[in-house]
Amino acid sequence: MHVEVDFDLCQGHAECQAEAPDWFTVPKGPEARVRAKRGEVPADQLEAVKAAVKYCPTQALRLVEN
Ligand code: SF4
Repeated sequence: MHVEVDFDLCQGHAECQAEAPDWFTVPKGPEARVRAKRGEVPADQLEAVKAAVKYCPTQALRLVEN
């Protein structure tokens, strides 16, 4: 599975970074948007990334089958 980001929805809340700091980075600043790693989410990151998708307040993240 990999992560897709809808940058039109992302508002830089950084909940994703709080849930999965190894996968998401959100720079500081009013125009901040998430930076997500690309590619297959490894098994040891999957639960954290699922939580990030679940708790993103704008539903900007999706987990997609490869
Ligand atoms: S939690 Fe959602 S809205 Fe906030 S930075 Fe992450 S992807 Fe963007």
